[in-house]
Amino acid sequence: MIVAGNWKMNKTPSEAVAFVKELIPRLAGAKSDVVVGVPFVALAGVVDALKGTNIKVAAQNLHFEAKGAYTGEVAADMLRDIGVEYVIIGHSERRQYFGETDVTVNKKVHTALAAKLIPIVCVGESLEEREQGVTPEVIRRQTKIALLGITQDALTASKLVIAYEPIWAIGTGKTATNEQANEVCHIIRELLAELYSKEAAAKVNIQYGGSVTAANAKELFAMPDINGGLVGGASLKAADFEVIANA
Ligand code: PEP
Repeated sequence: MIVAGNWKMNKTPSEAVAFVKELIPRLAGAKSDVVVGVPFVALAGVVDALKGTNIKVAAQNLHFEAKGAYTGEVAADMLRDIGVEYVIIGHSERRQYFGETDVTVNKKVHTALAAKLIPIVCVGESLEEREQGVTPEVIRRQTKIALLGITQDALTASKLVIAYEPIWAIGTGKTATNEQANEVCHIIRELLAELYSKEAAAKVNIQYGGSVTAANAKELFAMPDINGGLVGGASLKAADFEVIANA
């Protein structure tokens, strides 16, 4: 089980440090792995504030090249160097607003693994795709391309996480039902079994994300193919994130 907060473009570095200091005692007893996904400029301070605790830190993006002339971008080694352990890759907002594609997501997964960062790979269908009845095809395509060239050993040793986030449920207050969420997480699990093996598929944490709240987390996380959540809005409130991480 793994619960990750995605703060998106929220909290200044000083607000971020104050916030994680508030989270530390609240999450000290969490049974799942707990991660906070914070803006680049807040990463170093947050890593420092969380040293010696059970809360890990994620970046929300990285560049797929190791270094070079990519003005404004951040490389995997830079993240590792300051103690970041996870990286969110291919969030639908990055796909929608910043031109990320299945191919760039795949490149970023390779780069993250090479740097020993744990990828949280996001996949999810739009409302239109759901209404057209192509959700399974979309999810299979996104997941398959994201993992192209990743061996079974790399998949399991890296503890790579897949987050199923239906776009229509992100930030809308419109959560997928437990059954809808589990159905797609199951499709991902079956695809992993097809691509790798049943054993490998069983080891991968598959999160649900999309309007997870303190009120619905427990039921969602109790579904058989859901191993935790990627949480946006509710991860910005300490009391809510505490309930979700302990669900
Ligand atoms: C997200 O951004 O990954 C997300 C799931 O957002 P929210 O929980 O606000 O829907």
